[in-house]
Parts: sequence; structure tokens; C-alpha cells
Amino acid sequence: METIDVLIIGAGPAGLSTALHLLQKDPSWAGRMLLLEKAAHPRPKLCGGGVTRLGLSILRDLGLPLPLPIPQARVDDVRLQYGSRCIHAVGFPQFVVFHRPELDSYLADQARRRGAVICENEPVTSFEIDTEGVNVTTHRTTYRAKAVVAADGSKGIARVTLERGGRRRRVARLLETFYPAPADAPHFDERFAFFDFTLARQGLQGYCWEFPARLASSTGGDQPAFNRGVYDARVVTSRRRADLPHLLDIFIQTQRRGAPSAPVEGHPFHWFSPRNRLAWPRLLLVGDAAGSDPLFGEGIAPALGYGQLAAQALHAAFKTDDFSFRNYRRQVLASPLGRFLLLRWAAAEGCYRYSEHAWFMHLVWTVGDALAHLLPQPPELYAT
Ligand SMILES: Cc1cc2nc3c(=O)[nH]c(=O)nc-3n(C[C@H](O)[C@H](O)[C@H](O)COP(=O)(O)OP(=O)(O)OC[C@H]3O[C@@H](n4cnc5c(N)ncnc54)[C@H](O)[C@@H]3O)c2cc1C
Repeated sequence: METIDVLIIGAGPAGLSTALHLLQKDPSWAGRMLLLEKAAHPRPKLCGGGVTRLGLSILRDLGLPLPLPIPQARVDDVRLQYGSRCIHAVGFPQFVVFHRPELDSYLADQARRRGAVICENEPVTSFEIDTEGVNVTTHRTTYRAKAVVAADGSKGIARVTLERGGRRRRVARLLETFYPAPADAPHFDERFAFFDFTLARQGLQGYCWEFPARLASSTGGDQPAFNRGVYDARVVTSRRRADLPHLLDIFIQTQRRGAPSAPVEGHPFHWFSPRNRLAWPRLLLVGDAAGSDPLFGEGIAPALGYGQLAAQALHAAFKTDDFSFRNYRRQVLASPLGRFLLLRWAAAEGCYRYSEHAWFMHLVWTVGDALAHLLPQPPELYAT
């Protein structure tokens, strides 16, 4: 049996952020933690790849250069559409779109350069917690860790095992696909993206999106693309399920179409509620495993934020030899990330409950439009 202080299950943004923050606190963590990843970077990952200012600031504070040196499309103008009404939420940038396999691979490289050890192609198959530590089993060996971070995403083994027979699951559904984009598509110069809530009229508790994207090409450069998808929060589970493939098809018909360059694929998304359990003695949940934004399905920036809080909790646990993690949940809720998630949760609960009613959506768009004009624009995060 191999022994280690901290085992991180999953090397996505949440796991890598936990590792990067531990290493930032104290480089000696390099020899005291291990990441176990079931795939190998760059691994396929279904995701729009939009990283908002919250996430970009965390990356900057980790000492990573902004803009990151990987293909990306910048979005300064978020167009929130409902029928013919449009709110422009402007920021410099509001978010940046990365191709997820490349973003995660870049973060993994940065973690490795700072000393992290990532065991790839090594899925965790089971784990067992006792008072002194955690046994984590993979097909290769069993590890004995003093503490474990479950950063294994929405379908992760840790949460599913620990919550078996537990509460309502709070899972959203997403579908997405890619289309090639003409090089002169205005989205790239004018830097805009669409979030279209019009199909709320057909029972969608969410929106369809169109993001400009830049994908690395086999010839070394990058090629412009559109990432299109549909998000269904399923906050109100008593309502009939929206037919997502059909709704995505309707949305795509309204855009410039062409032929898709990738099949439509789907993935669940575990969202945050203040009732979610975030820790067990010797085990912390981060990222999608803990739960992310139910309003927009934004999970990358929250995953990076969870990593920062988990690193603080781990650092404190090893200093005090107290692995109960009884304060972790309170620390998350009291943090800027916690306030962000609480706000998004309250907005999702409020909005998606009534989003089938056109009068309600018009009211939201009237208030939203006024706020977009009144609120000061956030400052430029970085120069391109
Ligand atoms: C279609 C779609 C579009 C999205 N678009 C956006 C967007 O534009 N912007 C945004 O912010 N969020 C978006 N999200 C959400 C975002 O993808 C997630 O919130 C984010 O990936 C969460 O990061 P994570 O590190 O918690 O989990 P993940 O990124 O899922 O990483 C988990 C890692 O754990 C590994 N793993 C899983 N099980 C095991 C195991 N048993 N053993 C070892 N390793 C394991 C996985 O291989 C993976 O590398 C989207 C999601 C979907 C499905």
C-alpha cells in the first residue's frame, strides 16, 4: 500500500486548482500529494469552455499569464436574448472561451511544472474512510491517504458512493455540438456570444447558447468555430422534461447553420444548493462534485474557486491535525465563491419556477436591461 498525505481524485479544473493552490501555499506539498486521473491529458471533455472573470482572476492570482498562451476567443458582449428582446451585458472581457481539452491540459502542465505528480489513466474504483485515513483503490494499487479531495466531477465516484440512497440529486442536463465558423464571422471581431432563453416558452428551464471558439488545428494554428448547446437546469422537477435534442435543433435552425463538425453529445451537471453536503471527515468535495451554478451551468470558475478553499482547509487540517473538515461548508458559504453560488442558486430557483410565463420573462428582461445600463462596467481584466 502506498501512503500519501493528500490524494486528489480527478485532474479537471477543481483538482488542478486544489493542487496549484497547495503548491502556491507551500512548494513542499509537491511530495505530499498525488492526483489520480482516469484519463490522460489532453482528454476529451464536453464543455462550452467559457471562463468568466471570476475564474480568470483566480488563474492570474496563481501566477499564470493572462491571456493564457492557448487558443481562445474573447467575449466582451454577452447577449441575453428572450424573443426579440436583448440585454447586452458588457465587460472587458465578460468571459473567454477555451477548448476544454487544451485548457485542462495546460493547467495540468502548469501543475506538473510546479512539482505536482499526476497519475493518468488510473481511475479510482473504490474508497473507504476510517477514523485515521482513507483507502483509495485503483486498478493498479491501493493508496492510504490522510485526506482525500473528490474533484471527480458530476458523475464522480465519491459523491455518488457517499450519498447513495440520499437526497434529490440536483442535476442539470446539457447538450452541445461544434460548427465550423467562417473566419469573418462578426462574433470574433465584435466579441459577442448569445444566451437565448426564448425556448423557456417550451418548458426549457435554461437557455441555448452560441459561443465563438477557437480550436487548435492539426496544422499548428487554430480554426474558428461555433460552440452551440442547450442547458436545462431542471430546478422544477415536477414539470415535464424538456425535449433537449429537439430544442437544440430549433435553436440551431435560427442560427447560421452549415454542417456540424462534431456530433451532439450530452452530459449531466451537478448544481449547488445550500443543502448540498460538501465534506465528510477526511474528505472534501470540490467543483461539480460539490455543486456549481444552477442558473447558467457555469462550473469552471467555481471549480477553480473551490480548489482555493479546499487548499486552505487542507493546509489548516495538517497544521492542527484535525481532519473533521467541520468548518469547510461554512467557509465555502462565507467566501466570495459561496456568495456567488448562493446568488445564482436563488436566482435559478426564482427564475426557472416561472420561466414558462412570458409576462414573467418580460419583467426579468425589463429589470435586467435597466441594471445593465445602471451598473458600472467592470474594469479591463487584461490587455490583448
Ligand atoms: C455541455 C457542457 C457545457 C459546459 N459549458 C461550460 C462553460 O462554458 N463554462 C463553464 O464554466 N462551465 C461549463 N460547463 C460545466 C463545466 O464543464 C464543469 O462545471 C467543470 O468541468 C467542472 O470541473 P471539475 O474539475 O469539477 O470536473 P471535471 O471537469 O468533470 O473533471 C473531473 C475529472 O475527474 C476525472 N475523473 C472522474 N472520475 C474519476 C475517477 N473515478 N478516478 C479518477 N479520475 C476521475 C475526469 O476524467 C475529469 O478529468 C459545461 C458542462 C457541460 C456538460
